[in-house]
Amino acid sequence: MASVFRSVRGFLPSSMLDWPGKICSVVFLGGCNFRCPYCHNPELVEERGNGECLPWQEVLAFLEQRRGWIDGVAVTGGEPCIHVDLPLMCAELRDLGFAVKIDTNGSRPQVLRSLLQGGLLDAVAMDLKTSLSRYPQVARRPVDPEAIRASAEAIIQSGVEHEFRCTVVPGLVGREDLEELACMIKGAQSLVLQQFRSQHTLDPGYAGAPGFPDEALTSWAEELSEHVPTRVRGLVGMSAS
Ligand code: SF4
Repeated sequence: MASVFRSVRGFLPSSMLDWPGKICSVVFLGGCNFRCPYCHNPELVEERGNGECLPWQEVLAFLEQRRGWIDGVAVTGGEPCIHVDLPLMCAELRDLGFAVKIDTNGSRPQVLRSLLQGGLLDAVAMDLKTSLSRYPQVARRPVDPEAIRASAEAIIQSGVEHEFRCTVVPGLVGREDLEELACMIKGAQSLVLQQFRSQHTLDPGYAGAPGFPDEALTSWAEELSEHVPTRVRGLVGMSAS
């Protein structure tokens, strides 16, 4: 696996969507250990080792100039936690005075724990794919369900700002799967049900496929809130919330 510093595939100077309530820059890391068919970042999923990447020092230099203009930096992918040296990158961002958020699929609890225990994170967003027994169906890779459970526990117990989110894709995740997930993360700050958007997918077979009706997601969110505060995002009939 390439060093995290040689895996920067993209950089967004400013975003209001990637960290709710904050203006942040976004660092995109290449490589992922999952192959979710609906993934909308297919170009980031395949790790190309010595492929094109942005020089980290240039990213840092740019960020230094933005101090005071942005609230923090979101590190996303791909899957950031496949890089065991991710804590070094987060520490450098912290040293510059930025708050740091990561997005993760939760498959590498050891890396996540070292970030949390090292006090290197201000926020985490963890994707939940489907009920644990069905994970390989979505990830299209072997998945240790205990790793997913351990990551979720570590995040909840850490007390850092967090959200769990699930892209609700017909055939891969349904109402019963969501019930299991919501029970698994009891005590979490929030669960977000994301509407499936199929414009740009890793598996072309999913391009153009329909999602569940908005109304179904809205009513499931209400029901799941019995276990954990749940809301919806990206409904077809309204702007993203
Ligand atoms: S959706 Fe996330 S976890 Fe799945 S393949 Fe894409 S980057 Fe990896």
